[in-house]
Amino acid sequence: MPNIVVVGTQWGDEGKGKVVDLVCPAFDVVARFQGGHNAGHTVRFGEHHFSLRLIPSGILHQEVQCVLGNGMVVSPEALLGELGELAQAEVETRGRLWISDRATVLLPTHVALDQARERARGAAAIGTTSRGIGPAYESKAARYGLRMVDLAADDLEERLAAWLEVVRPQLDALGGAADPEAVDAGALAGRCREWGERLGPMLRGTEMLFDTWLREGRSILFEGAQGALLDLDHGTFPYVTSSSATAGGAATGTGVAPTRIDATLGILKAYTTRVGGGPFTTELEDETGEFLRKRGNEFGTVTGRPRRCGWLDLVAARYAQALNGTDGLALTKLDVLDDLPELRVCTGYRVAGEVLAEFPADRAALAAAEPVYRSFPGWRAKTAGVLSWDELPVPARDYVSFIEDQLETPVVFLSTGPRREETLIRRDLPAFTALTGGRL
Ligand code: GDP
Repeated sequence: MPNIVVVGTQWGDEGKGKVVDLVCPAFDVVARFQGGHNAGHTVRFGEHHFSLRLIPSGILHQEVQCVLGNGMVVSPEALLGELGELAQAEVETRGRLWISDRATVLLPTHVALDQARERARGAAAIGTTSRGIGPAYESKAARYGLRMVDLAADDLEERLAAWLEVVRPQLDALGGAADPEAVDAGALAGRCREWGERLGPMLRGTEMLFDTWLREGRSILFEGAQGALLDLDHGTFPYVTSSSATAGGAATGTGVAPTRIDATLGILKAYTTRVGGGPFTTELEDETGEFLRKRGNEFGTVTGRPRRCGWLDLVAARYAQALNGTDGLALTKLDVLDDLPELRVCTGYRVAGEVLAEFPADRAALAAAEPVYRSFPGWRAKTAGVLSWDELPVPARDYVSFIEDQLETPVVFLSTGPRREETLIRRDLPAFTALTGGRL
């Protein structure tokens, strides 16, 4: 059985939740490796709707083990909230959910910092979810951050006090913290101890747990959050997230060696969306953009913010393909395009009269880039629930085939609706076996 990484190849919200939920029964373990509770998946399970932000949706499959890896930032408060939701629905998590003892703790102080900074940035706001994710990663890089194992440390209060000496002046300069507990070392230490007691049984040295599982031949699915263009190193800096959202992050964010990871499944939405600020070459600020937003229900699951919408961008997708080494794609939300008379796909960026073949690093070049489009006729037919390639309308097949040719990557899963049944699975492709071991 392969060990695979599932990653978003755009700016997040590609529909990873549905695809991971679909493929995870083929795996023994589902692990997250970066981000925190800024990534929202709404998952349906029987009568219940869960909004899981930290815990992998694999938790809803009884046979699957779930891990929050060392590369994550974990808000104990948010995690306990999710555990409460699962307990209410009688989903057993004991003995199935493990949290890396090296994962970074996200404290109320990080939330206060995030909110104060976004407020102070005004019009230049990065568009963060203001949940403290960025400041928590900053604490980690600055070597002040607490790791989950530290929740039970004897010198917790002194450590917090030393860190607050650094942080308090920053917060004061930005108008202070709304929550007084956020800057009180004693109060924070008390809460940490309480969290430590409740979460203690789930903390593990997960690196060695993965090692044991791999020796036993168990298969792991690494579940990415956000998307390649939001990656801290490779994305549209500074409008990015603070972690490694590309496939490489799976290794550093879990401690599983890159040599143990076999393949990458990239999630590509049939058009493009982006939340918050930053360059977006194929953005549509017209009625087609509005159509995509309404038909695709493009509003943030965590924040409710309307997402910016536009045509599919293959310049960006080719870059994401290189970063992730994608072996197969899940193309999602094809149904959203069903009623459009004409579709466009961006195949190049024109900057100062020249057509660029590569996604530029320079902010000014990205901002100035004009999309070069290739036009396709729409299919104007319902694709939702179509289960075989031959039954897809011919123009829809042409659209998908063009994407496959341009990216030199097969579309293994074609999603035509939010439900699991609304997925065309191309079991005949060798990439299907490479990604699932044929177990679906
Ligand atoms: P994620 O963060 O990548 O999991 O993406 P989101 O959860 O923000 O967005 C996915 C949303 O689109 C969810 O509400 C899904 O139910 C829905 N969805 C997923 N795939 C499809 C699809 O093929 N068609 C339609 N119409 N909706 C889909």
